[in-house]
Amino acid sequence: MSAAEPGVLTINGGSSSIRFALFAVGGTLQRQLAGKIDRIGLKGTNLVVSDQSGKARATQHITAADHGTAVGFLLDWLDAQPLFASIKAVGHRVVHGMQHTEPERVTRRLLKELHRITPYDPDHLPREIGLIEAFLQRHPKLPQVACFDTSFHRSMPAVARLLPVPRRYAAKGVERYGFHGLSCAYLIEELTRLDPGALNGRVILAHLGSGASLTAVYRGKSIDTSMGFTPAAGLVMSTRSGDIDPGLVYYLARTENMTAPQFQQMVNHESGLLGVSGMSSDLRDLCASEATDVRAAEAVELFCYQARKWIGSYAAALGGLDTLVFAAGIGENSPLIRKRICRDLGFLGIELDRKRNARNADLISADVGRVKVRVIRTDEELMIARSVTRLLDLGWTGNDKP
Ligand code: AMP
Repeated sequence: MSAAEPGVLTINGGSSSIRFALFAVGGTLQRQLAGKIDRIGLKGTNLVVSDQSGKARATQHITAADHGTAVGFLLDWLDAQPLFASIKAVGHRVVHGMQHTEPERVTRRLLKELHRITPYDPDHLPREIGLIEAFLQRHPKLPQVACFDTSFHRSMPAVARLLPVPRRYAAKGVERYGFHGLSCAYLIEELTRLDPGALNGRVILAHLGSGASLTAVYRGKSIDTSMGFTPAAGLVMSTRSGDIDPGLVYYLARTENMTAPQFQQMVNHESGLLGVSGMSSDLRDLCASEATDVRAAEAVELFCYQARKWIGSYAAALGGLDTLVFAAGIGENSPLIRKRICRDLGFLGIELDRKRNARNADLISADVGRVKVRVIRTDEELMIARSVTRLLDLGWTGNDKP
């Protein structure tokens, strides 16, 4: 990055980690470095930084008992980097944006609104607001942009947004919001580049990582998505249950004296693949143990079965299917899981090519299949950087080198 090239910093604050990346904005967007602080609040907290080729450049052990300390450390570290002088704006992933349909420049008014909507996402918003405020305090003149993970789904029709509870709750904002929107937006941009005609058709995006969701897209717009009012809904995930019978709340309250916070903890952190297998939230561990451990085998089968069911259901919602996209940790890297999900979906026109699937090729469907099945490496950080440069008109012309 030359001094003449402006830079954009992206920040993605999770529950126990903060990821960041620095992009140079010329005619292209080029990632200069990427890093993360993980295991915040646990033993072995590290800052790991890699360069543009993905090679680890530095690992530093830090003491960060809480998010605030980790944020302070990150700001000090960034300030000490010569590249920091080039940064013209910071883009934040903000998981919940209620009705916001586009990325937005952070103002006092927006911050006030984010504080107000915190009850809609008490797990993520307070930390994300904390990150924005820490940057504001340290660099008050540096523009910041909030990129909402819910925005992509604001195009959903009312029938997909409505939750079947009394109407008075809908008036208070209780509806399906959907998440993984930055990933979806990126996948749709990449799909347009790879196959411009695909966007005229019916697309299912399968973002399968430790959080997992499926999204039905018609003519480039989200028409339904499996996550709901919170990210705990939909598919079975690493530690989140996904959809369960709402009657379980009262049953567990009666028989186990389970409180609402305990229920929240259970469905978000103790359920899903971890809960069913009783051994691991990581699908790699489960696949390695399924031959000898029946619970691990059941967890893997449940994941694939549910993904298959949601594909079928969204094909029905779309009135057919033209393109299926696999993305995120599992979707991008596991031929075995993709194969099992697509088993018996020949009736929809989904046929995988064994060799293409085995090498995680861009196009993994067989030529005889009606549906194009693709693997696209999602990149939420790049999507944030694109959004910031577009909003602030920093000169990006639309070509990237991720
Ligand atoms: P993400 O949240 O997108 O970073 O995805 C993380 C998850 O991807 C991990 O929890 C793993 O379960 C999963 N994963 C990554 N590589 C593989 C693989 N080769 N096979 C199965 N699961 C994988």
